[in-house]
Amino acid sequence: MRTLSELIFNNTYSELPATFGTRVTPQPLADPFLVSVNPQICDLLELNPIEACSEYFINLFTGNEELVGFSPIAMKYTGHQFGQYNPDLGDGRGLLMGEVLTSEGKKWDIHLKGSGLTPYSRQGDGRAVLRSSIREYLASAAMHGLGIKTTHALAVLSSSTPVYRERIERGATLIRVAESHLRFGNFEYLFYTNQHSELKLLADYLIKHHFPDLLSTPESNRYGAMLSRIVSLTATMIADWQAIGFAHGVMNTDNMSVLGLTFDYGPYGFIDDYNPGFICNHSDYSGRYAFNQQPSIGLWNLYALAYALSPLINKPQIDEALNSYQPLLQQQYSINMRNKLGLAEKLEQDSQLFTDMFELLKSQAVDYTLFFRTLSSVPKEQLATSTDQFKPLFSCTKGLTLWLQGYAKRLDAEKVADEERLELMKKSNPKYILRNYLAQQAIESAEQGDFIVVDQLLCVLATPYDEHPEYEHFADLPPQWGKELEVSCSS
Ligand code: AMP
Ligand code: MG
Repeated sequence: MRTLSELIFNNTYSELPATFGTRVTPQPLADPFLVSVNPQICDLLELNPIEACSEYFINLFTGNEELVGFSPIAMKYTGHQFGQYNPDLGDGRGLLMGEVLTSEGKKWDIHLKGSGLTPYSRQGDGRAVLRSSIREYLASAAMHGLGIKTTHALAVLSSSTPVYRERIERGATLIRVAESHLRFGNFEYLFYTNQHSELKLLADYLIKHHFPDLLSTPESNRYGAMLSRIVSLTATMIADWQAIGFAHGVMNTDNMSVLGLTFDYGPYGFIDDYNPGFICNHSDYSGRYAFNQQPSIGLWNLYALAYALSPLINKPQIDEALNSYQPLLQQQYSINMRNKLGLAEKLEQDSQLFTDMFELLKSQAVDYTLFFRTLSSVPKEQLATSTDQFKPLFSCTKGLTLWLQGYAKRLDAEKVADEERLELMKKSNPKYILRNYLAQQAIESAEQGDFIVVDQLLCVLATPYDEHPEYEHFADLPPQWGKELEVSCSS
């Protein structure tokens, strides 16, 4: 475990030509203090977690101290926001501070979100508030715990610096850690500004650092293979979102990671009552980014990326890559959903079983997470008479009883022992998700100076498939007020 000054840096991005970003130093926040640090992410960086409590760490990540080795840079990118191209994007309130190398040679970006103005801030103030920083901090931990690829968050820091939103809030920073911060929008920027040799340079950079196995592919196919890789990673990520019930909320191409990491947590939401058309972002009036639109928006975004890469890839290769998206997504989603029902055998009648189940969940707005978790605890021979166990989730159980009977019958075709099925189901159906109201409770306590709920949630969400008897209340159904919370774009 290292101290901050023992970290090893390899700042590859800042060595790229000047067009890729602008060097900026973070602007100080006043009276900084630590809100929470995630020890799991310290482990990833091989950073001694004690360091995170030091004054130096707190000062460093609130712009009050410098670290030799960091090379802060605001990355330039553009992107399609709600379907419209916006040329003026870039890190408007964040900085890539540096890239750390672990003893095994793994590279991690350290990004500071909320670090002040940059040339890409437009009308923004370059700041982040405590509320949005905690939301991103907890969501990154929750997704990682669920086994879904995501950026990470090392810590949240706050300050007495006032930040003006609908009300005055505390300025905060989030330390984001990821294999890469490259977005679809980094490529779009170079394409739309006709910097095609830089476009190739960025593709080479991505391949060298993240897809090195493609270096042995002849150059005529290499960029097509790179696009195929991005398509596949995106398809897997979105299939995982759909199975777990995660809505991202702002799937603009500047929020799409080329490594298929869930990226930039704003008005995201985990589904409580099952509603396929769930819109978590209250500024998304048309429902462009509704839960059930995510698979097709993923493809829309990949088309935008492919277009930006067209100087490097011929049409047949682009078509081949994009055509692989839907089957890959379907395949991964099917694996995920079959695991959720504990179905190892594939039978023709299964699609009807799923259709009926979704219809049931939708018609009665059943809690998506607790339905599957409850199902994971009922042995096959008890299913037909287990309706009572589901009663808190259903207003009327008639259709449920029928479905449970059908499901029990279907399980007869399974070859594995029933206990094994239930084991698998418990590993695929989390007990704990980051419900909006839980995040809200953590935020409200933190705004009063009490960070205990943040830390408790962090701990539970790290292993959401396990039982946590002392935190049973985090698995409760949400209260009505918790279902009605409004969250909208950037804060
Ligand atoms: P987001 O909605 O967080 O994905 O941000 C979209 C764009 O707006 C990015 O270029 C951000 O850097 C920029 N942005 C968001 N919030 C702020 C802010 N408070 N100050 C400056 N730029 C911002
Ligand atoms: Mg963004």
